Amino acid sequence: MNIKPKKKLGQNFLIDKNIIKKIVECVSINNENEILEIGPGTGNLTEFLIKKNPKKIFLIEKDKNLINILKNKFYNKAKILNEDILQFTKNDLLTDNSIIFGNLPYNVSSQILTKFIFNKEKFKFKMLIFMFQKELADRIVADVNNSNYGRLSILCKWKFNTKKVFEISPNSFYPKPKIKSTLLIFTPRTNIVKFKNHNSLEKITRIFFNQRRKKIKKQFAYFFKENSKIIQKLNINLDMRPQNLTPETYFNLALELEKLRN
Ligand code: SAM
Repeated sequence: MNIKPKKKLGQNFLIDKNIIKKIVECVSINNENEILEIGPGTGNLTEFLIKKNPKKIFLIEKDKNLINILKNKFYNKAKILNEDILQFTKNDLLTDNSIIFGNLPYNVSSQILTKFIFNKEKFKFKMLIFMFQKELADRIVADVNNSNYGRLSILCKWKFNTKKVFEISPNSFYPKPKIKSTLLIFTPRTNIVKFKNHNSLEKITRIFFNQRRKKIKKQFAYFFKENSKIIQKLNINLDMRPQNLTPETYFNLALELEKLRN
């Protein structure tokens, strides 16, 4: 490969064609699906996505040096945007049939996921198919009482059903990362708890997990003092640790916080 991968843009390009095929085959794609690929890099995954004949394909790549490579390769086949996905707001490109793919740059992958969780741009999509470093993927999918369970697991469970598809060895990339990657599929949930402002859930989970090994007594008091009604209603035991509370309990705590602030 004659381009020099940029570490600061998390450039680890997929070079294993069998893995690329497996990624593309993990969902069915047809001519009713628009595809958005985040960080197409040199287009290794893009090439296989185009072979599926989607309705349209959009590529969002921050590195302007890669844009010419992409334009040469996919002239007339893809709409190529030289943009930062974190700043991207054009929601009219997507529909309920859109599938968003990304072998995400590891340094901003949780920010990218959070953008789609809070979705202030109101993007429509059918599913997200994202690749993460294994440690982060383990945190995203973790269930209550698991040591990896935390803020991101709860925020994700609020909006998505998440499925782990498979792990990918460092040998499938150039340059070779230090650790494994994991492919996850996110599909939007239908019955979502509605908050006046998602900051309440964001704040509750942030403060509770600030001290993840300690009992929740102090964090509970920070928001609710000794409010025994809430303790009873939500069946909370203050000797529990943050990882012992279910996502639903966190959603309810955030709702209670909103009531108090009204
Ligand atoms: N999809 C390619 C592949 O699998 O070979 C490249 C994946 S590489 C892990 C991540 C890609 O995201 C790089 O091409 C990088 O330049 C791009 N990137 C990094 N930060 C970005 C951002 N904020 N917005 C859009 N693209 C970004």
